[in-house]
Amino acid sequence: ATPTAVMVATGKGASLGVLIKGGTALQKAHKVKAVVFDKTGTLTVGKPVVVSTILFSGVTMKELCDMAIAIEANSEHPLAKAVAEHAKVQRKKHESLADHVEDVKDFEVHPGAGVGGKVGERIVLVGNKRLLQVHNVPINHEVEEYISGAEKLAQTCVLVAIDGKVAGAFAVTDPVKPEAGHVIRYLQSMGITSIMVTGDNWGTATAIGREVGINQVFAETDPIGKAGKIKEIQMKDLTVAMVGDSINDSPALVAADVGMAIGAGTNVAIEAADIVLIKSNLEDVVTAIDLSRKTMSKIR
Ligand code: ADP
Ligand code: MG
Repeated sequence: ATPTAVMVATGKGASLGVLIKGGTALQKAHKVKAVVFDKTGTLTVGKPVVVSTILFSGVTMKELCDMAIAIEANSEHPLAKAVAEHAKVQRKKHESLADHVEDVKDFEVHPGAGVGGKVGERIVLVGNKRLLQVHNVPINHEVEEYISGAEKLAQTCVLVAIDGKVAGAFAVTDPVKPEAGHVIRYLQSMGITSIMVTGDNWGTATAIGREVGINQVFAETDPIGKAGKIKEIQMKDLTVAMVGDSINDSPALVAADVGMAIGAGTNVAIEAADIVLIKSNLEDVVTAIDLSRKTMSKIR
């Protein structure tokens, strides 16, 4: 495309809320044959809420909440906010009126799995089943049942382990964006395949995929795995776009031919992307590809 055509299209994009960071993305987007979507915060609203809580053994509800609040206060993950907010409300019902948050030592992020640290003398992990398994926390039948029940309802289970034992869990729901389904269908009508990659578990991911009409789902994928998926598709000679919102999508956003960040996402994702969807609306994935198709067809 001529510099003028790129400039015009970039301006047009900006006025539509599609921020294009350079000519290259604009000249590649028209060739896109596959769009890889992250789940949380991309296909879903990204404002998860806790819908149920369960206490296993060894601790009180207040203790479970204290530990979850302390650990999640250090995390920027959308699930962290949901859990902390809910735990604070729950804690108030169970004797404690204070808004107290305990100090955490040795806080650690386990990308795509959860977080952990020391609260006083206790070692606390907050995250998914994989996080606990990696740390040799046994998961008994009762816990397993609770997890699979939640996953069937497209909910994500946030497990809390204290000193090597599962203490309790929070089931979280994150509704899909209202436009997700029709965007996927529209892309299909344009000859473009949609794929999901997520760090979340297979059960929840498959349920969400079914809801939005994506049948190619890859779950329990860490940030490097997400980028690997992109490269795999590129090896089939397909031009790939990646749509993501968070730090764990950054390697994939960089690996993709066209990286698109959700405007409401984290700065790291926005910096890694070629295109920013300012309105955080998935319809703008189509807007961006359309703009490129029109720009490139004028040239040829
Ligand atoms: P996605 O790819 O869907 O955006 P992430 O890679 O961010 O998901 O996270 C994958 C999974 O790791 C989450 O579904 C959750 O089970 C777990 N997880 C990550 N961070 C946290 C946290 N701060 N608190 C609880 N669970 C977490
Ligand atoms: Mg996400």
